Amino acid sequence: MDEPLIAIVGAGVMGTGISTLVVGHGLPVVLVDVDEDVLERAARAVANGLRHAQLTGSLPAGSTPAELRTTLSLNDIADAAVVIEAVTELPEKKADVLAAVSALVKPGTPLISNTSGIPIDEMAAWVKSPGDLIGTHFMNPAYLISMVEVIRGPQTADETVESVLSMLTRIGRRPVVVRDAPGFVTSRLLHPMINDAAQVVSAGTATVEDVDTLMQGCLGHPTGPLRTADLIGIDNLVDALEALYQRTGDERHRPSELLLEKVRLGELGRKSGRGFYNYSEAQS
Ligand code: NAD
Repeated sequence: MDEPLIAIVGAGVMGTGISTLVVGHGLPVVLVDVDEDVLERAARAVANGLRHAQLTGSLPAGSTPAELRTTLSLNDIADAAVVIEAVTELPEKKADVLAAVSALVKPGTPLISNTSGIPIDEMAAWVKSPGDLIGTHFMNPAYLISMVEVIRGPQTADETVESVLSMLTRIGRRPVVVRDAPGFVTSRLLHPMINDAAQVVSAGTATVEDVDTLMQGCLGHPTGPLRTADLIGIDNLVDALEALYQRTGDERHRPSELLLEKVRLGELGRKSGRGFYNYSEAQS
């Protein structure tokens, strides 16, 4: 029997990592973006990611990756069994993409948003069939981090939850289902911490390196919050904080001046070769 086709819309940091994970587990992917250069870079990044995942034992031994097809045409997702939306964290962009996707696929096709924090029920207004919509919050790199936060909106159908949990298990993930809220659990806790870490640096209390070293050595954080910011992408972090701030009014979610300055300078983290740290090779 043919494996189900998974469509992934948005070929940036997350779309690339999720594509690596899915094809690595033998399910074919059609990956859509609006930018041909991004798609070329994504295809190379998936090939590199597959090698890395196999070397680190993050993929089943001896497995043969499924086909990855890249395209500029959203129409190519029409036959997908599941769609994962991973476009830029801007509500108006996600609204356009989700509306277009939901008009193309068959009713009953699970429609997953990988948003960092926009409530699923807010997005439900943008799709034809709100019961098909659900959130997943894959972490970066998606093919290395096995835990996935799954967000069930108030209108999400039982069948959607079941089929998405079964797909996540099929690709070796460990899902935890939470209820809908701005930022869910992980962004609600992580993003203000990173924002605070940037403010600590701006205040001159400690250097970037010392903030990360203390958070690693004293509190067991795996990388330190500012290295995490570089891994996430500081532009995405600012968009996600802004989305949280708009929905909670909590000042800890207002993007700090240092984060905004990094975005203005194009110092976006690993993906641009420089963020809080310098990277010899930009992610390609
Ligand atoms: P990114 O900026 O790296 O990539 C976004 C991609 O979306 C870009 O390649 C862009 O060209 C594409 N895009 C924009 N409009 C499009 C359209 N209309 N059709 C198709 N593609 C379009 O962002 P990212 O870091 O990959 O984040 C994607 C989503 O995942 C966001 O919602 C983000 O909040 C979320 N997320 C990110 C991380 C992370 O660590 N970066 C972690 C969890 C969740």
